[in-house]
Amino acid sequence: MDSKKVVIGTLGSHSALQILKGAKDEGFPTLIVTIPKHKEFYKTFQFIDEVICIDSFSEFPSIENELIKRCVILIPHGSYVAYLGFEKNKNMKVKYFGNKNVLDWESDRDKQKEWLSTARINMPKQYELNDDISFPVIVKSHGAAGGNGYFLANDMTELKEKISTFEHKKYVIQQYIVGVNLYVHYFYSPLTKRLEIMSMDRRYETNVDSLGKIPHDIQKEIHINPSYVVVGNSELVLREGMLSKAYEMGRDVIEASKKLVDKRGLYGPFCLETIITPDQNFHVMEISCRIVAGTNLYINGSAYSWLNYNEPMSTGRRIAREIKKAIKENELDLLLD
Ligand code: AMP
Ligand code: AMP
Repeated sequence: MDSKKVVIGTLGSHSALQILKGAKDEGFPTLIVTIPKHKEFYKTFQFIDEVICIDSFSEFPSIENELIKRCVILIPHGSYVAYLGFEKNKNMKVKYFGNKNVLDWESDRDKQKEWLSTARINMPKQYELNDDISFPVIVKSHGAAGGNGYFLANDMTELKEKISTFEHKKYVIQQYIVGVNLYVHYFYSPLTKRLEIMSMDRRYETNVDSLGKIPHDIQKEIHINPSYVVVGNSELVLREGMLSKAYEMGRDVIEASKKLVDKRGLYGPFCLETIITPDQNFHVMEISCRIVAGTNLYINGSAYSWLNYNEPMSTGRRIAREIKKAIKENELDLLLD
């Protein structure tokens, strides 16, 4: 790849605006691949140099030769996983920001559990159907489903009944933790070996976050099953006394990945999805190994990025800055797969 011709590209959804604004602020040409319904919208932004339209996101691999010719570096985000699927994502040959070997460990919940346990991260208890289960539990399918299709069960009868009609064959049964949800956004630089907390968010999930607005008497009558589909994100800063623990969890996950995945391990942006209980303990539900959409709150930087940079620094811009540094130091191979 000719590093002087690098174009930063991504799929048009999820966090594409943040990624491409950041790339343009760092001086790169930018390109977006999107579907007809979003095309006009993305064309309104001056920092996007080119909009390529395909009929559906799953057709993305069909234009990969064109992207390779154009020296595009793809920045992956949640839509890659959601719409391309694991195999297509792995098999694409366009230069990709990140270590694709991490995908095997992220997409399989058993491997993810092994990874987080190796990092000594506290997780909600996981059960098999014939275990002595302490209820309530949440049942979750494998893969990034954005909370889609999860369900809660409060006793064994309800659990067995709901599992018998569950459309997903691979799932986990997890202890349901009552606490504050906090998503911590990190960036690990393979060039400087430095870890940063970039920002944090909470999610707004429908309909579970609205159930509390209904008086208990009515809740009991109408039997609404909570669903966890994310529709937006809001800001939160963490009690400062808990920040060092959040940092250490990120550090330990990186160290464990270097042992389990390969020598390069996880790098770039990632997120630990936590629930914090009244004893101020973090319970980590999941790890996302790429930019998460909660970072969209901070296109102009966050309270935490401001501590490290005296300029607006989104996660999208931080990625572009890493690529720029790697080009300058002739180390681009360290960042790409
Ligand atoms: P989309 O392209 O908007 O359908 O997003 C692709 C995937 O990214 C979804 O399946 C969600 O899992 C995740 N996602 C999208 N937007 C958000 C958000 N605001 N917060 C958290 N996750 C999100
Ligand atoms: P996830 O797909 O793991 O990000 O989960 C989506 C949403 O489901 C989270 O944001 C939580 O609201 C909820 N959730 C997942 N796992 C748990 C758990 N073990 N305890 C409580 N809530 C959970």
